[in-house]
Amino acid sequence: MKIRCSTFLNCHLLLFRLYFLSLLVFTFATTPEEDPSVIVSRFQKYLQINTAQPHPNYYEAADFILSQANSLSLHSQTLEFVEGKPTLLLKWPGSNPNLPSILLNSHTDVVPSEPHKWAHPPFDAHLDPNGDIYARGSQDMKCVGMQYLEAIRRLKASGFQPIRTVYLSFVPDEEIGGHDGAEKFADSDIFNKMNVGIVVDEGLASPNENYRVFYAERCPWWLVIKATGAPGHGAKLYDNTAMENLLKSIESVRRFRAAQFDLVKAGLKAEGEVTSVNMVFLKAGTPSPTGFVMNLQPSEAEAGFDIRVPPTADQESLEKRIAEEWAPASRNMTFTFKQKVSVHDKFGKPILTAADSSNPWWTLLEGAVKKANGKLGKPEIFPASTDARYFRKRGLPAIGFSPMANTPILLHDHNEFLNQAEYLKGIDMYESIIKAYASYVEHTRDGASREEL
Ligand SMILES: [Zn+2]
Repeated sequence: MKIRCSTFLNCHLLLFRLYFLSLLVFTFATTPEEDPSVIVSRFQKYLQINTAQPHPNYYEAADFILSQANSLSLHSQTLEFVEGKPTLLLKWPGSNPNLPSILLNSHTDVVPSEPHKWAHPPFDAHLDPNGDIYARGSQDMKCVGMQYLEAIRRLKASGFQPIRTVYLSFVPDEEIGGHDGAEKFADSDIFNKMNVGIVVDEGLASPNENYRVFYAERCPWWLVIKATGAPGHGAKLYDNTAMENLLKSIESVRRFRAAQFDLVKAGLKAEGEVTSVNMVFLKAGTPSPTGFVMNLQPSEAEAGFDIRVPPTADQESLEKRIAEEWAPASRNMTFTFKQKVSVHDKFGKPILTAADSSNPWWTLLEGAVKKANGKLGKPEIFPASTDARYFRKRGLPAIGFSPMANTPILLHDHNEFLNQAEYLKGIDMYESIIKAYASYVEHTRDGASREEL
């Protein structure tokens, strides 16, 4: 019944608006649109708070978010899993608390910047004549955190009542791994009690008109391989030196890397769909006061690799490759992982969210973006890591989506900016998505379509 009432009301609003429009009187609309400059200035205020690692001003950000939550009459809770690192949890209660809830996640920290290399200081949130807002965090991801809030502001003003409960989490430390933020939050009792059904988290800007959307991300494997061998005179040729054995491995890794990269270059696979491997350190040699000893072949040599494995990859075959080709015991080699995130969730399934009609949340998102006149690109695997992995690991669906089309990808770069028109359009997207998600009721009695709900 409630739903029917709101539809009825909307129709009436439309009629009223048409009537007044015909009289060229705009000011009588019952829910007047807010001046865009006011909306943008709230975004700028959040951007002006310096939450750069390694010393983010988390409490100032928390105070700001709390003030926003209060202005929207949202329930709020400040959780500190680790002292000094607040997670803000906001709640918009739904009319049916038994249904799984919706979680809109964003992180409050940003990466450091080199201010002298920027056209405008990274925490001024300068708005240039083109409408571009320059600030660290304008893309990654203060935009999204504020867009969630602005979308809720509009939905509340329109009289919308969620059926499902909507939560917003503002978490710390994503940029340094999220261990004291999203990871602890996702493992908490509080999270369990929230009965989350779908998580929305960050994506990436898109240089073209299609928004990018992510259903999985690659898992980091930080591999260190070590070769040992008999030391010897620098003039002697002999087999099984540590250096020689390590070089054979590096050559093998390099061939694998080239083959994966070729698939991307040929357009056969997207960046997130291949296993990337990059050598990040080489450690060998015998130090001397002037550099390295030149006439001695060392007995140990090490190399480190940052490997990113898509959840669609065959984990076992990569493990085999590492043990048999990259660090074989037969060549006196050993290996360790500084980090190794499994491509499987706690149920043993690949950590990914279905991006097809088998997942109603996916279908709803697609429909909601379309309804708000946005276009989605082909769903992708995020090339690096985000907090979404902590939720997917629990077997929950999580979609990465930062609505920024026609925008160069500048996260972690100098002169990160977002155009105000894109920012405002992103609010439309979230308004539509939150509305669709919060109204979604499975297994309707008479088979009524979701549209009617
Ligand atoms: Zn981010």
